[in-house]
Order: sequence, then structure tokens, then C-alpha cells
Amino acid sequence: MEFNYFTPKEQEEIAKKKHKNSHKSHDAYDDQEDSEDQNSSDSNDVYASKGDLESQEIYENVVESKENDNYEGQIDEDNMEFINILDELEETDSDEDDNEESVFSKIDCRGISRKAVIVVIIIIAIIAAIVIMPMVIHQKYVWEREASSDAAVSNESLEESMRETESAAQASKDAEESIKASESKAEEAKQETLHHNQEISASWDMIEADMSSPMTGDLQGADIVDYGTGKMQVDSRITSALDSIISGAKDAGYNLKVTVGYRSYKDQKVLFDKKVSSLVASGLSQDDAQKKASETVSEPGTSDHQTGLGVHLISSGYEKASAEKYAKTDCYKWLVQNASKYGFILRYPEGKEDITGAAFEPWHFRYVGKENAEAMDKQGLCLEEYIKELKGN
Ligand SMILES: [Zn+2]
Repeated sequence: MEFNYFTPKEQEEIAKKKHKNSHKSHDAYDDQEDSEDQNSSDSNDVYASKGDLESQEIYENVVESKENDNYEGQIDEDNMEFINILDELEETDSDEDDNEESVFSKIDCRGISRKAVIVVIIIIAIIAAIVIMPMVIHQKYVWEREASSDAAVSNESLEESMRETESAAQASKDAEESIKASESKAEEAKQETLHHNQEISASWDMIEADMSSPMTGDLQGADIVDYGTGKMQVDSRITSALDSIISGAKDAGYNLKVTVGYRSYKDQKVLFDKKVSSLVASGLSQDDAQKKASETVSEPGTSDHQTGLGVHLISSGYEKASAEKYAKTDCYKWLVQNASKYGFILRYPEGKEDITGAAFEPWHFRYVGKENAEAMDKQGLCLEEYIKELKGN
């Protein structure tokens, strides 16, 4: 190969550069023989001393190109580039292998760093995927859970609301049923009481023996017995009560006696007829005499004495006293206050004549049983009023 493809000017330029480089090299390596540098500068063989196959190849390619193109003494851009490459090679030649390695390691490093960058990116992507994905999944799970929780809370709230409504409705229903039950119970109790009262009112000690139900005989179940002195008789069912009230009065300082007791229908009729006769004898007609007699003597069948439960209780010394006089005695007052404790009531009280149909008798007491006597006493009722109440009228 010859350099005759370059113009003389080119060759001169190349030679100058080579010479310059040769001096540089000479300065740096003083101990080395000049022959080597001299050889490289004089021989005009640029690549001969390089041992650089790659440079040689490039050089050959340029030359070959020039030959093929029949290039005649003009420097084109390729040649200038080649010159520059050669210059670089010359400059770095003295640094020998270190510089050569630097050039190629630069190229290699670029390759490695590109790969490294890709690898790093991939690694970052993987790490990101590993780190972020669970976070995303977790966040999604959290959101779903919150949504689910919200929905659950909402459902729970709704259910609770429904339960409360149902509960309120049930409570209302219960209250209604309770009221009904209460009303029913009250009505039942009322009926029971009425039934009970009617039984009481129909009991033997509640007999009225008035004009609405005259008794032609003795009280049903009556057992008329003698009581005390003076041939008095009473129903055997009241003798113990009589004993108690007489005993009680005695303790209080009153000496009570039974002056009138049981009187039969027959005896009452005799008494009544005798009264009528005396009135007729005084000049009244039969009808007028009977009407007048009934004001002081009960007609047969309507006397409380016929029941065997009514008695006259008079303290000693007042046997012949008028009603007005006896009513003012302490004994009478004690009897009015205490008779109910023994089951007795004042049968014909003052002020109730229109109801009882009989004149006030401060001595006539009637057995009705302790419970009834106290109830009547408390309410201020006479027997007719009390029986009427018991029957619910
Ligand atoms: Zn009497």
C-alpha cells in the first residue's frame, strides 16, 4: 500500500502530524531508542507501527474506496474523518494499552449502563409491583370493607328501626290487650261482686219482711228458741250474738234486756186486729181503723219480729219510756255506736221512716251479721237501702 492516493499537501499534513506526535512520544519516553519513532515517522506507513488491526482495516477501507471511486487527488469528507481518527490514534498511541482500553471500555460501559438501566428499571418495576400491588389490593379491600361495613351499619340501623317499630306496635297492642283484659277483669269482678251481693241479699239475715214480700209463715230455716227471761223467743242463729252485745253493754255499764223478740204471723195478726178493733170502737170505720192501726203496728206478714232476728233492747228502768225519751239515754247512744260490732243494726232509724215504712223505734235492733252491719253503719244506710245496693238497683 502507498500513500500516493493522497495529494502532496495531504501527505505533508499527515507527515507533520506524525512528526509532531513522534516528538511528543520522544519527550515522554526519553530512554527509549529513537529508531522506533524515527521508523514510524520516516516510513510513511502510518499503521505499520500500530499493530492495530482495526485502524488498519479502516485505513484499507478508505484506500479501497478511493481506488473504486477512481479518486484523483481530492480530499473528501471521509478522508478528513480518517485523518482525524488517525490523529486521535496518534495522540493516544503513546498511552499504549491504557488508552486503548479506555476507549473500548467507554463503549462497553455505555452498553453495560444501558443494560443496567433497563435491568434497574425492570427491578424497580418489579419492586413497585411487589410493593404497590399489595397496597392497592389492601386499599381496595379496606374500601370494600368500609363500604360493606357502611352497608351493614345501614342495614342494622334499618333493622333496628323496624324492630323498634314492631316493638312499639307490639307494645301498643299489648297495652290495648292489657286495657281490654283489665276492663274484662273489672267487669268480671263487678259481676262476681253483684252475684256475691245478690247471694248476701238473699241470705236469711237480710230478709226485709216488708209489704212487698209479706211473710205468711216463719223465716225459712228458722229455729225459734226461748231466750232470756220473760218468755222471749228468737231465732237460734242469733242467740250468741245477743249474748255478746248484752255482755258488751254490761261492761259499758248498761243492763240490757230483750223485751220483745220473735212474733209469729198468728200473734202479729192478733195484735193488729186488736188495734183495729179499738179504733173502730172509738168511732172510725173499718177501713180507716185498719189504715190507722198499720201506722203503729205492722200488718201480719210484714213485721221484723216475725223473722226471729229483730229484738227490743232496753236498759233497766226504761221499759215504758217513749221513743223520744229513750233516744236521749246514754244506753241508746252506746247501742247506736257499738251494735254493728256484734252484727246488729238500728232497724227503724229516725229520718228514714219513708224508706222503712215504719215509725222511729230507738230500741228495735236487728241482726244482719257483723260484715253487713259494719258496711251499713259506715255508709249510713238502713236495711232497705243496703239491700237495694246489694241487688245493684
Ligand atoms: Zn219492734
